[in-house]
Amino acid sequence: MRTEFLPFARPSISDGDIAAVTDVLRSGWITTGARNAAFEEAFSRYVGSAGAVSLCSATGGMHLALRALGVGPGDEVVTPSLTWVSTVNMIALSGATPVFADVDQDTLMVTEASVAGCISERTKAIVPVHFAGAPVDLSGIRHLAAARGVALIEDAAHALGTEYDGERIGKQGTAIFSFHPIKNITTGEGGMVCSDNLALLDQIRRLRFHGLGVEAYDRQTQGRAPQAEVLEPGFKYNMTDVAAALGTEQLKRVDAFNRRRSELAALYRERFAEVTEILPLGDPDYRFKHSWHLFVVRLDTRKGGMGRDKFMAGLKERNIGTGLHFRAVHLQKYYRESMGLRPGMLPNTEWNSDRICSLPLFPDMTDADISDVVDAVKDVLAHQGGQ
Ligand SMILES: *Cc1c(COP(=O)(O)O)cnc(C)c1O
Repeated sequence: MRTEFLPFARPSISDGDIAAVTDVLRSGWITTGARNAAFEEAFSRYVGSAGAVSLCSATGGMHLALRALGVGPGDEVVTPSLTWVSTVNMIALSGATPVFADVDQDTLMVTEASVAGCISERTKAIVPVHFAGAPVDLSGIRHLAAARGVALIEDAAHALGTEYDGERIGKQGTAIFSFHPIKNITTGEGGMVCSDNLALLDQIRRLRFHGLGVEAYDRQTQGRAPQAEVLEPGFKYNMTDVAAALGTEQLKRVDAFNRRRSELAALYRERFAEVTEILPLGDPDYRFKHSWHLFVVRLDTRKGGMGRDKFMAGLKERNIGTGLHFRAVHLQKYYRESMGLRPGMLPNTEWNSDRICSLPLFPDMTDADISDVVDAVKDVLAHQGGQ
């Protein structure tokens, strides 16, 4: 058994990252400024988008995107329940109603059919989630959104470097990325909205800083309008230059990170092929490139003779960290009680929510770490099965 705990995720921070951050700290300008502009430009160039706006989190980006699109009371937003709670919370806080589309049993992503079944006269936006590093099948959903005149905002928190039909996520439409420490690159905390709708980006840029017409950086160094005016009440969701400098350095290594993630995932798949209690996710049947944000498996609880929570506890006892992405949102206390939601409404989501588990996956992992995880999984199943 491992003597040292293996976390399920850990950021890869280089000396170059640290030097870039200390440079900012010594520069005399540490909040939103030139480094944010540079990070936005580099990020936009990487994904191929028309523009990008940096934020203090992807959650903040989702809040502002919904607000800029005018989503409010009386509106419905279609999104999966098998997602991080942040998106659904932002929909609820905007006063709109989340409408949950079930996911494909094996890719854990919404489909054109599941989304179509949730569209009504009140639908204002569709927010699909690219899951674990694979892309949603966007083509049909794009057509559906265009035909029904509803906005499409992609939750791309898992999808930096992911490609759909030969194109990076973020190049077309509106997509929101996250730089939380477990994501494919990190800024400590942070997010980015990419869009081909430049008017939308302008509005998000304004809303991220009090709704003022110009940025703090412009006000102090460029000598523009000495006292900018509030054009509409805004928030305080800007990213610091300390974070942006880290992001710019991390972005230079994203392809190398993703290559290593992909090698590790291939190794897991090979080693788990003979472990029948462990069901990997299915690959999409359309053209795509995976960014391997997470390595998610489902435990066959019948064959394994135990529930998922016990399986995770068994791994923890063996010094292996795990994550749970995600516990179905529609069955969590607030949504259950406020919306009258019950088990049975989203069969694929619920089946997976009870069985999924994310195993350790991060670029600095060694092949030996993968062996430790696989051995621990086999050991948990051997020792606790049948109980
Ligand atoms: C991480 C995550 C978010 C939120 O990102 P933050 O930067 O932490 O706000 C949103 N959606 C999904 C699917 C995520 O995994």
